[in-house]
Amino acid sequence: MKCIVPSCLAIRLVCILFGLLFLTVGGCRPKVPPPPPPVVEAPPPAPVTPGPAPHLAQPSAAPKLAALLKEVALRYDPGMTQEDRDRDFSEKIAHARQVLRLERIKAMRERSLDLINSNGGVISWEYFRRQKWPDGTPVGVTLNVPVWVPSRARPVPTYAALAEKWEEVAAAKPRPAGLVYFAGDLQDINDKSRYRTAMLAFEINSLHAPLAALLLEYIYREGVYEPAKRVPILVVRGGEDTYAAAADSGPVSVEGLSFADEIGGDLNATKVRLTYPSLADIHHGRHVKASNHRLGCALDINDFNFKGLVDGMPNQVSASLRHYNRDGMHQLDARNLPDWVFAAAKKVGYRIPQEWTYIGASKDWPHFDCGTK
Ligand SMILES: [Zn+2]
Repeated sequence: MKCIVPSCLAIRLVCILFGLLFLTVGGCRPKVPPPPPPVVEAPPPAPVTPGPAPHLAQPSAAPKLAALLKEVALRYDPGMTQEDRDRDFSEKIAHARQVLRLERIKAMRERSLDLINSNGGVISWEYFRRQKWPDGTPVGVTLNVPVWVPSRARPVPTYAALAEKWEEVAAAKPRPAGLVYFAGDLQDINDKSRYRTAMLAFEINSLHAPLAALLLEYIYREGVYEPAKRVPILVVRGGEDTYAAAADSGPVSVEGLSFADEIGGDLNATKVRLTYPSLADIHHGRHVKASNHRLGCALDINDFNFKGLVDGMPNQVSASLRHYNRDGMHQLDARNLPDWVFAAAKKVGYRIPQEWTYIGASKDWPHFDCGTK
């Protein structure tokens, strides 16, 4: 008898263990479908802070153009993808070109020369900018555009005239012609996380203004959606004969990159600090009679004169291969325009530097225009 009780207990224990095992693995339980996953709404796209829209310094002098600039202002919808932004850009370009009757962008040069000839004038921006198109819109307008600038950039006024030498303009300051920015420290220039929004001002042919506004606003807007794409735009030159910053600014010091040669593609560079007598030494220029700048039909973006650097920026016309490595150069010194800026300029219809042909050598500088033929 003694052994019966433990045996029963043992059997019971085995049964309980088996029962537990079944419960644990759930082998015999009817399958209950898992509850449906809770419906999670996609988070709303992050809000976007629109940049200040490009606008005329004197909208009342050119109301039709002011209205067109508003029509082609780029959108800042939350969550716009690259495709959405590019589509918006293309639609606005098409609209502007249709309203301006610029099926071919070089027509702005032809119409400008026709107007100068019919008025019996000379090919000079100082003369031409005071003319009016048949609908009463002044030829010369000042355009304000949003740009990203390094944290320590400061505004610099520029002056213009029809002069043989830029030094004359720098000394006499004949009339204000726009605003550029000065930034001298390469680390600050390359620190995109600390960029801020600023407004640049430059003169331009009113027929060209909406297209220039579109390109510059596109460059700015890309940096709003993708901070890594911010490009510091410190200088835009449009319509002018001879221009310069003031010669009486006092000495300025600026950093730039110097390369081993003036023709190669090698990106090894040395950081160099240069000191100039004044801001006029960095910001000046004189356009020849044949230049589209004299008609307000060209744009120089980030054009500087850094004497003392070997092929540092394409400020003088560069013959090096390294400048065609746009993204590589942009990474070294953000003032160099990345490849997508040239692609955007091409979308607007501009002739871009890569399309210029020279006898014997390829040359490069950050100049975009309506072409000549
Ligand atoms: Zn130019």
